[in-house]
Amino acid sequence: MEQRFLKASLFVIVAPSGAGKTTLVHALLRSRPGIKLSISTTTRLPRQSERHGEHYFFVDEARFVELQKNGQFLESAFVHGHYYGTSSSFVDETLANGDDLLLEIDCQGASQIKRLFPEAVIIFIAPPSVEELRRRLHARAQDDEATIARRIEGAKKELQRAHEADYLVINDDFDQALLDLQRIVEASALRYHLRLSRFPLLAERLGLRSAP
Ligand code: 5GP
Repeated sequence: MEQRFLKASLFVIVAPSGAGKTTLVHALLRSRPGIKLSISTTTRLPRQSERHGEHYFFVDEARFVELQKNGQFLESAFVHGHYYGTSSSFVDETLANGDDLLLEIDCQGASQIKRLFPEAVIIFIAPPSVEELRRRLHARAQDDEATIARRIEGAKKELQRAHEADYLVINDDFDQALLDLQRIVEASALRYHLRLSRFPLLAERLGLRSAP
């Protein structure tokens, strides 16, 4: 498998549904407009508030399989009974442009991305407790009981894999969680290989080595 070295930050946000990920990510992107968001493809049906091409590209299973066969996905996974995949070309083009990129995907996808891009920054957003997660899923009233139960089981599994992440953000207090995310973004921009790729003359002068 080919590993790739980055000239921009690739953030991967993993969170069980109900952890408050979407609201946090939108607040982060509003405060850091330079970061691009990848829009995934899914076989899940759109929720009432969701639009094709904005929240997801919604496709049927036959189309998903076709895209997968054609190598259009950098990673893909079966989550809560549906397929999800990240567009390979969008990720490649964005990073080649030197733009920072954020993926909101599950833990299976995150480990696929980490194998491809060892410098990807994996951020796990956790709710303060499973009870609070259950309360939030009921409060948002988006899913039926069976779906909520499935999501809570999925969340427990995901929490067991939280240690694979580089950073853990606990979404108890929203403002604090957002501040944590902003600090991670800022720290990432200061990492050695990114600094060097932005200051090639300095690197040359000092005989510093950038990633292969
Ligand atoms: P939801 O259906 O609630 O939008 O998302 C369900 C789960 O699928 C979430 O954990 C979300 O992060 C994950 N997910 C969304 N897009 C992708 C993707 O492209 N790849 C992977 N592996 N997971 C995804």
